[in-house]
Amino acid sequence: MVTNYKEKGMSIGFVPTMGALHEGHISLIHASKKQNDITVCSIFINPAQFNDLRDFEKYPKTIDKDIYKLVTSECDILFMPDREEIYPASLPNVKHYNIGYLEEILEGKYRPGHFQGVCRVVDILLNIIKPGKLYLGQKDFQQCKVIARLLTLINLEDTVRIVICPTMRENDGLAMSSRNMRLNDEQRKTACFFPESIRFIKEHIGKESIDSLLEKERKKLGEKGFSVDYLEVADTETLKPIKHWDGKQGLIILGAATIGEVRLIDNMILE
Ligand code: AMP
Repeated sequence: MVTNYKEKGMSIGFVPTMGALHEGHISLIHASKKQNDITVCSIFINPAQFNDLRDFEKYPKTIDKDIYKLVTSECDILFMPDREEIYPASLPNVKHYNIGYLEEILEGKYRPGHFQGVCRVVDILLNIIKPGKLYLGQKDFQQCKVIARLLTLINLEDTVRIVICPTMRENDGLAMSSRNMRLNDEQRKTACFFPESIRFIKEHIGKESIDSLLEKERKKLGEKGFSVDYLEVADTETLKPIKHWDGKQGLIILGAATIGEVRLIDNMILE
């Protein structure tokens, strides 16, 4: 179906998702619709990218609501493959993607195998959809870097352009996420302290040392009941940690913290 459109010279924008769609996903659809003739959204809860089986089993599924949201946002095509279509039992996975140190830091460190699973599914989906542009959310900033590296590895860097869209947030600042619906009322109220900490660091960099800012905010989050995996200031290009800022380098503050059973990730870029 997509091939027909391509043969007619139409541009294809692609928004890969795992469903339980929210305004963040829909903002990607809107961005794609503005820049392409045809927008394809995929919904596939990718087992290969879950390092925690419980997280996979508990991943929210709201397919009827998702379809409604895609229809109202005028998404052209929904691609909803089953597991066998993406990972045929007859074709065992042998591919390893050399994404280098990105796999060892931040999310990579805390979710072993996660980015291999992301690369695997994105590689397969790109081969099926063959888009000209790929729409990704800044919320998963490290994932954007990994997928950029993947495009080079699979020789698509000149064929597919990545468009990174801003993180959509709830009124209290919490980054929208499919996992947020698993927070109970109390956890949901507490959750906003996580982006608040990131914002605080962002606003105070240059006024006190990065180490002391990070230490204070990690401690604050701990006291609020978060279990913090990481809270770091890093170079926007390389994602390598920054201890002393020269005032010129692009910076990003990234964090991952769990409240109850829900792991939140977020980041903010220092312009
Ligand atoms: P997911 O369904 O969580 O795999 O996300 C699918 C895409 O939506 C990814 O590119 C995410 O980065 C993006 N996304 C998730 N949450 C948000 C958000 N709050 N704002 C913008 N994009 C998002």
